Amino acid sequence: INNLAALAILGVALIVMQTDISTRHSLYADMRAALAQGQFRLHYQPQVDAVGNIFGAEALLRWQHPVRGMIPPGVFIAAAEETGLIQPIGTWVLKEACAQLVKWSKDPNMAHLSISVNVSASQLRQPDFVQEVIEIVMRSGATPAQLKLELTESMLAKDVDTTIQKMKALRAFGISWSLDDFGTGYSSLNYLKHLPFEQLKIDQSFVRDLLTNESDKAIVETLVVLSKNLNMMLIAEGVETTEQLNYLLNKGCMKYQGYLFSRPLSIEAFEAFMPVFHESKAYMQLKAQLTL
Ligand code: C2E
Ligand code: MG
Ligand code: MG
Ligand code: MG
Repeated sequence: INNLAALAILGVALIVMQTDISTRHSLYADMRAALAQGQFRLHYQPQVDAVGNIFGAEALLRWQHPVRGMIPPGVFIAAAEETGLIQPIGTWVLKEACAQLVKWSKDPNMAHLSISVNVSASQLRQPDFVQEVIEIVMRSGATPAQLKLELTESMLAKDVDTTIQKMKALRAFGISWSLDDFGTGYSSLNYLKHLPFEQLKIDQSFVRDLLTNESDKAIVETLVVLSKNLNMMLIAEGVETTEQLNYLLNKGCMKYQGYLFSRPLSIEAFEAFMPVFHESKAYMQLKAQLTL
């Protein structure tokens, strides 16, 4: 009976493995097809400053699947990284974001916007990453100063010297760098000193319970001082309530991104949002705080 049970367990394990492999294989095949068939989309989430200007947008990848509908990046980015597909997908994202910058540059309501693009570890590690980015930007005709690239701390632990070189080369070309999800990885203050980041993004996990969690308050206040002293822009992610906004504003964090202002939007929705933003409740709240 023991042997039979063991065999049964082995059988189940094999089936589970097989399913896992074939799911993964079909995800890979699906993603390749999605790229070829134009099923990826970029949505844009507004970034707002303390006087109520939308100064930029973060480009966030979506997969418009013909059967499964809109799939968020949390579901497929990891698989894209494991299979190497993140490289062609990342190239597509950069081209698309640059094309959007060029389109918006012709629209007086949109021309001032910067676009932030998330870059994954395996993209950054490509030996020709710098060359590729420069070529994409030049071919598109986008202004490099309007493009920001977002990295996370975990990507910085390896090959620090090569990373610094690449970041400096693209900085010299005009692109700026943003450190995403700051505080969630193994941050070393040494990175901040040596890497040419223009911007820190406070991770949303520190913003979520900001009003009630004393450690989160301390961390946010520390990041305000740190970013000032290091001469970096600070932007808070995941701002969902006016209470969070007011707290951040009063502590000196002057840039925000979050559902309070807007969820990530399709291009059409983003363009429709821009002219009516000043009528929104979030905008009024910001103005009310400023005149106090
Ligand atoms: P991220 O770069 O930290 O992006 C912010 C995430 O927080 C987005 O999730 C956004 O929709 C979400 N968010 C924004 N405001 C709020 C808020 O107020 N509350 C809450 N709860 N969430 C908020 P999304 O779009 O699902 O993206 C998840 C992650 O996927 C991104 O995190 C980024 O790491 C990755 N990602 C997205 N697009 C790309 C891409 O083009 N390339 C790569 N390599 N990664 C991407
Ligand atoms: Mg990001
Ligand atoms: Mg983030
Ligand atoms: Mg994140």
